Amino acid sequence: MLARTHLAFALLLGVFIFPGLNFNSLIEYTTFYLLLAFAVFLPDIDHPNSKINTKLPFLKIASLFFSHRGFLHSIFAPILIGGIAYINAGLLFALPIFLGYFAHLLADAITINGIAPFYPIIKFKFKGPVRTGHNLEFFLFYITIGLTVFRIYFLIF
Ligand SMILES: [Zn+2]
Repeated sequence: MLARTHLAFALLLGVFIFPGLNFNSLIEYTTFYLLLAFAVFLPDIDHPNSKINTKLPFLKIASLFFSHRGFLHSIFAPILIGGIAYINAGLLFALPIFLGYFAHLLADAITINGIAPFYPIIKFKFKGPVRTGHNLEFFLFYITIGLTVFRIYFLIF
């Protein structure tokens, strides 16, 4: 998946969860969306040439320890990272990190290469028809943007 499709998926998840959140200030909303937008790229620190690793090269170290689309692309990773964020910084930080990360896994799960959601316990892979940068991905990207705009419209009016 292209970076922008990952971001669009995360925003869509965010705007659907949004009304259930009891944030009191603009700072809280901004923190939520900034963390969401950051966390959606986190799983790909397991790939040395991923977008996040070219922007933040120090994260490349993870690719030495984790195989691409291995543990960091399993459901255990966002639970662990979200849990650590919750213990250290509370729900405001933990929720967008978990959601962004989870949105990335959902999007990767519908690609040709798929992900193994319970790796390393079960190596079964979820796969889908989406090829990175091909027509179906563009279609999904625009559908996702459309649903997000639609949702925001109904939240405002
Ligand atoms: Zn990925």
